[in-house]
Amino acid sequence: MNIRIERAKNLKEKPEGALGFGKNFTDHMFVMDWSRDKGWYDERIIPYGPMVIDPVAMVLHYAQETFEGLKAYMGKDDNVYLFRPEMNARRFANSNRRMCMPEVPEDMFIEAISEIVKVEKSWIPTGEGESLYIRPFMYANQSGLGVDEADSYRFMIVLCPVGAYYPQGVNPVKIYVEDELTRTTVGGTGFVKCGGNYAGSLAGQVKAQKLGYTQVLWLDGVHRKYVEEVGSMNAMFLVNDTVITAPIEGTVLAGVTRDSIISLLKSWGYKVEERKIEIDELIEKGKSGELKEAWGTGTAAVISPIGELFYKGDKVEINDFETGELTKKLYDTLTGIQWGNIEDKYNWRKIVK
Ligand SMILES: *Cc1c(COP(=O)(O)O)cnc(C)c1O
Repeated sequence: MNIRIERAKNLKEKPEGALGFGKNFTDHMFVMDWSRDKGWYDERIIPYGPMVIDPVAMVLHYAQETFEGLKAYMGKDDNVYLFRPEMNARRFANSNRRMCMPEVPEDMFIEAISEIVKVEKSWIPTGEGESLYIRPFMYANQSGLGVDEADSYRFMIVLCPVGAYYPQGVNPVKIYVEDELTRTTVGGTGFVKCGGNYAGSLAGQVKAQKLGYTQVLWLDGVHRKYVEEVGSMNAMFLVNDTVITAPIEGTVLAGVTRDSIISLLKSWGYKVEERKIEIDELIEKGKSGELKEAWGTGTAAVISPIGELFYKGDKVEINDFETGELTKKLYDTLTGIQWGNIEDKYNWRKIVK
């Protein structure tokens, strides 16, 4: 790629104090356009700012949009690390195929991320648990109201410094098991990282929040019986000495964190079952005490312990609403690898050069 760089004239003040998530954006953004005639063209890093958009840009009407999420970490050795970016590149291509959108080749995807991260290096925060969140996304920007695949798309990357996802540290969350609304079914877009999935699931999240719950645990869209995933995280359950998580069969997003945690668990000798588990069985195991720990996995929060499940009027507390030992060990190990503080046996870290 031949990336043109236009530097911002006025640089922003860096935020101070707790960074939160997705609130402050850096000085520059990456932009690249695609047309059916030309393919990808005009790759550029330009000052961050609003863009002009046609009222009938197809994305605004028919939601042809996909995105990714990963982080850049500042190591103690002053190296900037990415964590398994090729997994995001492949998942993005997979998402785009399903949505009839052009693919960004893996090497271009990683080069674009590396270049914008290098330009914004001074924005990578260095406090405990802090990192630079990277949000690549693509949308149909052709004008028109006919429903069809578009002839032009825009691919962009924006960056924001983020803090530890939970300012009070890793604490258990309360989860509402949604038994009415559903997120997806086989054949749909459940495995795609697209805005549309989130638009359709907001009502569930709002309902859960009104009842005092942090997030929704989705059940399968056909029977509302099998456990799938939590909002923006994959869900895992330690039942006796086996870790159970939903299989990747078209309805659940193939999380990079999920995949990494499964590798760690297996290397420590845990049995991991990627299989369907009925919510009734899970609640029963919760009541009998066989459900020892539960947690969600995702790039933003890394590992989020689940302390309570609420299903059809029934409440089950897990591990006395304390972060479990295995949950903690997984969090410490994965974040240790991501920030470059412990050995990276799997070669997951990539230095940004
Ligand atoms: C992004 C996402 C995840 C987590 O994936 P990671 O690659 O681990 O960040 C899980 N579920 C959904 C629905 C997601 O969008």
